[in-house]
Order: sequence, then C-alpha cells, then structure tokens
Amino acid sequence: MDGEPDMKEEEEKGEGRDQSRRVNLGGIVSLSTVDWTGVAATVVFLRGCPLKCPHCQNWHLRSGESFEDLAVVEEKIRSASPFVSCVVLSGGEPLAQPRAAQKIAGLAKELGLKVGIETCGFYPNVLRDLVEAELVDHVFLDVKAPLSDPEYARATGREAVAPRVKECLEICLALEVPLEVRTTVFPEMPSLEEVGTIGEHLQNLGIESPLTIQQGQPREGEEPFDPVPAKELRDLAEAVKKLIGIEAEYRSRGDDED
Ligand code: SF4
Repeated sequence: MDGEPDMKEEEEKGEGRDQSRRVNLGGIVSLSTVDWTGVAATVVFLRGCPLKCPHCQNWHLRSGESFEDLAVVEEKIRSASPFVSCVVLSGGEPLAQPRAAQKIAGLAKELGLKVGIETCGFYPNVLRDLVEAELVDHVFLDVKAPLSDPEYARATGREAVAPRVKECLEICLALEVPLEVRTTVFPEMPSLEEVGTIGEHLQNLGIESPLTIQQGQPREGEEPFDPVPAKELRDLAEAVKKLIGIEAEYRSRGDDED
C-alpha cells in the first residue's frame, strides 16, 4: 500500500553511526498501568505520525527529530523488566518506524515480556509483518470515526485513511491477535450516532473485540471545551452493547458522572 514506511528510507534518516540502530524517540515511561489497562507496562513513544487529528494529545510527538541509539531504549527496558510484564509501543505512530518497532518488540520478547502496539492503523503492512513474526500480543487500535470519508478525514486531517484502518482490523481478525478498539469522543465528533455506526462497522467485519469509548479532553494549548459527560458515554456504551451486540465500555476522567 502506498505511503507505507520503507526500512531503507528509515535507515537513511540521521547522520553517522549505524543507521539501523537509530530510533526517533519521543520518550519512555518506565512504568504505566493505563496504556494496557491493569497491566504494568514500559511504554516507548516513537516520534512521528502521518495524521493530524485536531485534538491530538501527543501533538508534540507528531513531528520533529530526536534520534537516539536503540541501546538507550534497550537499557531502559532491561532495567524496568523486573517490574513490568509488557512493553507498549506508542507515539506518535509507532509503526511509522518499522525497524525500530521490530527491534524493540524483539528485545521485549527476549526478556519474556509481552508486546502491545497502540496504533492509528495507518500502516497495515507493517502491522501484518510484526504480527506474523509473532512479535505482537495485543493491538490497541484507534478507530476515530465511521470507516469512510468524509467522516474519517475530518477526524484525522487526511483522506483515504479509513481503508487502512479497516485492513488493520481484518489483519487482527485473520491472525487472531487480541485487539482492543478505542474511540475517543469529543463534543463535535464523532457524534453519539456515529459511535453507533462504528460499532456496526465492527460487527459487520466480524470483530468481537471490545470497543472502548474514551472521553476526549482538550489538548494542551487549545481553546478549552467541556468534555462529553461520563454519563452520556456510559449510556452510549450500554446502547452499543444492547443494540449492536458487541462488548463496549467507557473510560472518563471519572469526576462528572452525577
Ligand atoms: S494518530 Fe494519534 S498521534 Fe497521530 S495525530 Fe492522531 S492523535 Fe495524534
């Protein structure tokens, strides 16, 4: 598929040293329990993302360069490994750096850790390669809108993203990799009706994995807005379960339920 990252091209970025060991690193959190809910994880943020979601929480990781040698990441993972059971690759979009993602996932596996991937679904071929190499234990896939334009383009700032996301869903289904689909709801999009449509799309594809409906918050520096109340998200999750028949739960900051 056009636009998939090329390992050679990736290696040519940056200057000097062994380019295959360079990673455009956004940061590392040694211990997190929120990225893979309830599981202690080291989270590695890879810089760079092909999308421009208007409320992007990690906007500072969408672009720019802060290259490090993979040894820096390996050392952090090794020292955290006695205290965690998995490594989560996040971003930005971690699959935009296929070689780095492959090496980090491989190291995690060598250390006996599980690997989770948080992805926007833009790089199905990279995802397939990693899953087929048995380097992925769980995929957390953002489905930001019903799977067609103009809705998806509005949510991501880029056209023709939806077919890629759909292909990632199909890969997870075909290769039986555990999947959590996440939809983040902001006041203007996706509408509650559109979240129902996302649920229908998942059902039509045969996806039985849970849908997590997340409360979108204003990103740093943007005009503040009131998030969609937790009660509406809870009602929505219940409606998706009841009417569409797929597992759904909601996640909010938790202080506006009543
Ligand atoms: S896919 Fe994620 S990192 Fe990329 S722009 Fe959207 S929210 Fe930000």
